[in-house]
Amino acid sequence: MVRAVAAVARERGGPLSLEEIELDDPRDDEILIRMAACGVCHTDAKARDGYGSVVFPIVLGHEGAGTIVEVGRTVRGLVPGDRVLLVSDFCGRCDRCRAGRTSYCEEGPRRTFGAVRPDGSTRARMGSEDIRASFFGQSAFATYALASERQALRVGDDVPLQLFAATTCGMVTGVGAVLQVLPVGPGRSLAVMGTGTVGLAAVMAARAAGASTIVAVDKNGARLEHARALGATHLVDTDFTPDLAHTLRAISDGGCDAILDTTGSGELQLAAVAALAVLGQLGVAGGGGEPGVPLGSLMVGGKSVRGIIQGDSSGTLGLQRLLKLHEAGSFPFERLVRHYPFEKVNEAIEDSLRGDTVKPVLLFPGG
Ligand SMILES: [Zn+2]
Ligand SMILES: [Zn+2]
Repeated sequence: MVRAVAAVARERGGPLSLEEIELDDPRDDEILIRMAACGVCHTDAKARDGYGSVVFPIVLGHEGAGTIVEVGRTVRGLVPGDRVLLVSDFCGRCDRCRAGRTSYCEEGPRRTFGAVRPDGSTRARMGSEDIRASFFGQSAFATYALASERQALRVGDDVPLQLFAATTCGMVTGVGAVLQVLPVGPGRSLAVMGTGTVGLAAVMAARAAGASTIVAVDKNGARLEHARALGATHLVDTDFTPDLAHTLRAISDGGCDAILDTTGSGELQLAAVAALAVLGQLGVAGGGGEPGVPLGSLMVGGKSVRGIIQGDSSGTLGLQRLLKLHEAGSFPFERLVRHYPFEKVNEAIEDSLRGDTVKPVLLFPGG
């Protein structure tokens, strides 16, 4: 048993409280990590507010980075002392995982929001109280966390964990959406709805892919300026744009080849479909709202809409792709990161929800 200090969510919508929990020793296929840093993602706030199948008390956090201190008996590829970045969990056995589509793993919902092991057990407790501690297979808002070997990407000493903890979820999603899924390439046009972590990562990836028109759409002026600095060729402030579809069609000379929606706003998704070029594709990386897109409107022009989870990443491959982009100087995400000490986790979440901080990263003592 390992004692850890964790940010525990005890009730829907309530603040996280720092408490000492008892974490199991690693099972045969698990690794124990001492956390150095963990990014804060909007999905943490959603879960805190009771989204999906979340059961309280639970430890959130799903962008963990740290050093392995112990490995289970069947772990072969990792040893104590390895520095790792963690992606979300998948089973590795189902048809989708075997086909390399791990972000659509059949056990995905249980291993992410369910926050229990596949056998239904919890990884942590406090006295007699069970604490759910495998949120996205990691629950990394804690000084120590358990994860599976599959989730861990070992990185060299030249990769600062305090920075790269920012990259393993939302940024992988934005990069994968652009480089893996949507028709973005030299001479193409992409509009990005919402310039938070996912959207700004998509802007950087589109620039790296050679897109000639990159439109950032938001109502937060400071974020739009980030988008400009990272490669957006056009900025659209929705507060001053009465007809978004018309504006996007005008900028893209008749219609966008691709649009990525990260907002989940039904209104923006409707405008996006109207703004697509013939055979254009809308990627949805934010939960759909009302009003929905009338599917008949896709027919003329052969448009399509595609949901995207984790940028279609396969295991840690999406993260590896992002690291290569960064190494090549094409992914300057550092300027989006703001660090917070672990005990300021609630402040970090609220700053991110208000849009004051694009990407908060929590730092752990001694990490
Ligand atoms: Zn699977
Ligand atoms: Zn996330």
